[in-house]
Amino acid sequence: MPELPEVEIIKRGLDRLIVGRKIATIEPLVQRSFPGFSAEVESIIVGSAICSVARRGKLLLVGLDSEHSLLIHLRMTGQLVYRQADYNGQMSSSNDSFGGGHPNASLIKDLPDKTTRVIFSFTDDSRLYFNDQRKFGYIKLVRNSDLDDDSFIRKLGPEPLAGDFTWHVLKERLPKKSTRAIKAALLDQCVVAGIGNIYADESLFAAGIHPTRPVVSLSDDEIERLHGAICCCLRQSIADGGSTARNYVDSQGMRGEYLELHAQVFNRSGQVCARCGHPIDKIRVAGRGTHVCSKCQK
Ligand SMILES: [Zn+2]
Repeated sequence: MPELPEVEIIKRGLDRLIVGRKIATIEPLVQRSFPGFSAEVESIIVGSAICSVARRGKLLLVGLDSEHSLLIHLRMTGQLVYRQADYNGQMSSSNDSFGGGHPNASLIKDLPDKTTRVIFSFTDDSRLYFNDQRKFGYIKLVRNSDLDDDSFIRKLGPEPLAGDFTWHVLKERLPKKSTRAIKAALLDQCVVAGIGNIYADESLFAAGIHPTRPVVSLSDDEIERLHGAICCCLRQSIADGGSTARNYVDSQGMRGEYLELHAQVFNRSGQVCARCGHPIDKIRVAGRGTHVCSKCQK
């Protein structure tokens, strides 16, 4: 599943490519991929221009000029692919195309294909495809005034890269007196928005904290270190173009390089820790494969 940096990369690409475009048609090919779609929803979307692309946690928010937003959650296998029509009216798969999200051939091959769930056509004949092999992702239309009440957004914790996310905020969001493992707490989108398996493992390594440590056992110093590590890992990954753990491809078809360049433990079990030379272990925490240096992480 793409995490905050991967969604941020997609956001930036879409922002550059689709803002200002006017929607001519929308075709939801699978009902489950656009819950709540109706003739009324269609009438709001068609004719609207896209005025913004934003991100909240792992969620994309595409703002329309009709006081509504499209909420897009990619979940496990979702991807967004933008293609401009070339001068023959065919969908071009070269220069002006882009794909972000789950890595499979649908990012680069002719669309629609069997994974295509929703198609937006713009008035200039370019298109935005929402592909989703496993159909866990979704698109929803929400009135802007109702965004804060959306069942998913309402529960989201703070944005870790926002200026007001201090270590005190992190401490406040962590469950009090909880014996839950710190990694489980980091994966909980209500604690902090946008962190998944990669950045939980990397942040805990950078902070020198073992993923199984009960939340209640963390000192203020450790929470402060963890806060710094979260911000640092996420910023580094965005700078690297995201992760290639699953070969996420960004808006220009570039692969992110975070895992190759900067990740210290994720997917490195059996290799030695760059800091101390101890082998990196893979254990299970919160039901997820977890990478840890048991010498550096206490
Ligand atoms: Zn180590």
